[in-house]
Amino acid sequence: MSNEVTTKKYVSQFEMFGTVVSLTLFKRDQAVVETVYDYLQDADRIFSANREDSLLMKINRQAGVQPVQVPRQLYNLIKRGVVASRKYRDSFNVLIGPFVKLWRIGFEGQRLPYPADIKARLQLIEPDDVLLNDEQQTVYLTRRGMELDLGAIAKGYFADQIIDLLQSNGLKAGIVNLGGNVQLFGRNPLTSDGRWHVGIRNPQQPTGQPLTTISTVAKSVVTSGIDERYFIVDGHRYHHILSPLTGYPIDNDLASVTIVTPESTLAEILTTVCFFAGSRRGLELVDHMTDVEAVFVTRQNKILMSRGLER
Ligand code: ADP
Ligand code: MG
Repeated sequence: MSNEVTTKKYVSQFEMFGTVVSLTLFKRDQAVVETVYDYLQDADRIFSANREDSLLMKINRQAGVQPVQVPRQLYNLIKRGVVASRKYRDSFNVLIGPFVKLWRIGFEGQRLPYPADIKARLQLIEPDDVLLNDEQQTVYLTRRGMELDLGAIAKGYFADQIIDLLQSNGLKAGIVNLGGNVQLFGRNPLTSDGRWHVGIRNPQQPTGQPLTTISTVAKSVVTSGIDERYFIVDGHRYHHILSPLTGYPIDNDLASVTIVTPESTLAEILTTVCFFAGSRRGLELVDHMTDVEAVFVTRQNKILMSRGLER
């Protein structure tokens, strides 16, 4: 009898938050797959800015009225988002909600807003206008019309939570893919060195062959791009990453940014920050951070990688 060990790959997929979630494990474990599915369903009910009945929307409806008490995990993610928004003032901003709702990019009714409507909302996205109370776990948006939107970081947070969940269930390796937001864990049992290979999609042809592939030990690999959700008016592309300075989609040399770092929530924050920074300043920023790598793809499909990846 041969003592050769064959590693089997078990892939589960489900549709959620308008995207495909896939879970790759190297051990059959239907119970854990169900646990992940249930976790994501619950999470969507709490964190979504697209469902009127979510807890997040409850905070938004009470803007300018009163503080709202929320569960610890939602509180923590909001706090993380608000703190990052105060730090990266000109780019990442979880108070971007009023603009997301005005443009409706990627949803029914997307349209070019009136400049006056844009201008009016610029007063409603100030991160300092959020009051957080750690003891009471309350969030208060102090002005009427303010709106939190965790769209840029929620999936990263879910990915981090899922990794914890899988590990506490005794799994040693796997891939959590939340619509292109990839979180790897453990050693890849299918490669001799245990590394993983992740394709970077081609912004010109998102569903075609990847533009390039990176090799990494288990990390989070998160991409943000202008090819994900957009609409075109008079030949101009309006995509879903909105500038807190202007209220319009950010317009620079980039088509996508991928961040590679252990924690997925941080990866999400940095994809947005680097998107605004552009390729030159973005590379500088990443090269000064520990255990953060990046791939920038320009609108001409030129690829720029941070030092640690080029090696
Ligand atoms: P995806 O949802 O396609 O993974 P991203 O992670 O890039 O994309 O997040 C984009 C989402 O983040 C938008 O749909 C919107 O909900 C929100 N958003 C848009 N602009 C900003 C911004 N400047 N800062 C924080 N969040 C933003
Ligand atoms: Mg993001």
